[in-house]
Amino acid sequence: VIRVVLVGAAGRMGRAVEAAAAGASDLAIHARVDLRANFPAGAGVGGQGEAWSDDVQAVTSAGDVIVDFSGPAGARAAAAAAAARGAALVTGSTGLTPEDEATLREAAKRVAVLRASNFSLGIAALRLALRSVLAAVPASWDVEIVERHHRMKKDSPSGTALSLVEDVRAARARPDAPLRHGREGLVGARPPGEVGVHSVRGGTWVGDHQVLLAGEGEWLELRHVAQDRAAFAHGALAAARFVATAARGWYTLEDVLRGPGPRGA
Ligand code: NAD
Repeated sequence: VIRVVLVGAAGRMGRAVEAAAAGASDLAIHARVDLRANFPAGAGVGGQGEAWSDDVQAVTSAGDVIVDFSGPAGARAAAAAAAARGAALVTGSTGLTPEDEATLREAAKRVAVLRASNFSLGIAALRLALRSVLAAVPASWDVEIVERHHRMKKDSPSGTALSLVEDVRAARARPDAPLRHGREGLVGARPPGEVGVHSVRGGTWVGDHQVLLAGEGEWLELRHVAQDRAAFAHGALAAARFVATAARGWYTLEDVLRGPGPRGA
């Protein structure tokens, strides 16, 4: 049985992972990590089984898989603990700075690290479809990404939207294609090659991403709607199973979807 250390366990995603893991026989939540102020009422601290802790390193042992959905600081702490203890890491935290990412990359030199801005299978499929569509439409078509999330989301644009932007840049061999976050005032005509990214926030939207591609007199739209965090939680557990036996290195969800094969990057 794979021992999971869940970082951000009291949060929306942490609870979704907990629920998904409850239905799986091959992995078990060994420890729950969160900020002490957010421990649920009556949570036991220390000990085995239902243990809650605010110190990921203290509850992680060699061979564990840390699953992190907390935020930039939690992701950094999880990466340091994984490297120090010899545990694998699956992280979905977004809003990371380049320095945060460097901490994850550093850990991947010692243990298996898998990062994804979106763990749903539907987004993985949308990204494949986007690659094909961009190869089939003229490079002059304009790309605008509209994402919607619940009112509590901290980072904008979403990590998924930024991944989609990178996909567009890569498909068009334009790594420096400029981003446009919203438009206001007399901004003039749309410069060619720009990628628009627009963040809508409100209510309880779990995650909605639209990629709009607009040409002369026609446009098309690829859209994914996550209705329930279970979509992310099941993908994260599939990733946990994958890294549990993977060699040290850097992995993405595509490695999980491809299945076992040459590993490490
Ligand atoms: P949330 O605010 O509901 O939960 C985050 C939890 O992490 C909170 O309980 C908080 O106390 C805890 N936390 C914060 N800093 C911590 C630290 N340093 N150490 C330990 N615990 C800490 O947020 P959420 O909606 O569950 O999202 C969490 C993260 O996951 C965000 O970055 C979000 O963008 C990301 N997310 C990723 C995916 C994906 O598929 N990759 C999907 C949904 C959300």
